Amino acid sequence: MLEYCLNCDYAEEIPPTRETVIISVCGEDIEAIEELYRCPACGEAFTSSLGHDALTEAYRKYRHRHGLLQPEEIRQWREQAGLTQQELSALLGWESTTLRWYENGALQEVVHDNLLKSLMQQPLNLLQLIEKPSVVLNEEKRQQLRRQLHFVSTRLRPPVNPDAVVLLPAKEMVRWTS
Ligand SMILES: [Zn+2]
Repeated sequence: MLEYCLNCDYAEEIPPTRETVIISVCGEDIEAIEELYRCPACGEAFTSSLGHDALTEAYRKYRHRHGLLQPEEIRQWREQAGLTQQELSALLGWESTTLRWYENGALQEVVHDNLLKSLMQQPLNLLQLIEKPSVVLNEEKRQQLRRQLHFVSTRLRPPVNPDAVVLLPAKEMVRWTS
């Protein structure tokens, strides 16, 4: 519920509405539901970070369609492997922001997805990465990871939802990534 319009002086509560939108993801049209608050006075629409996000839905559908990992699968696996985002990024030779974006919902490169899957499906591959001389891991951390790798499983927990409600003008298409 939006308490008043952020664009004009309309001061009544504005209830959420849902509109179907078509979002183009890598050249594929994907239908998704956008939840928004449309001001009956000026027609301006606002989205909420807690409301249903059409882009997130479209990306999820696209990943599902193409057998790509979902963000929570990546995060869950990394945490179970005992690696921080920084450590895993460095081991993979990725920019430090890349993994964070993926875990927060950005659409991943297929080549990156394949690399992650090869580590998930073959813990031996991850072990090889860990054993490589590297500046990110000290010997203590390596020992810890070797032990932890015995417990790696691909079992999933439900994803954690991001926090605060933030209302933004829909036309700016600003998205919060926590
Ligand atoms: Zn208005």
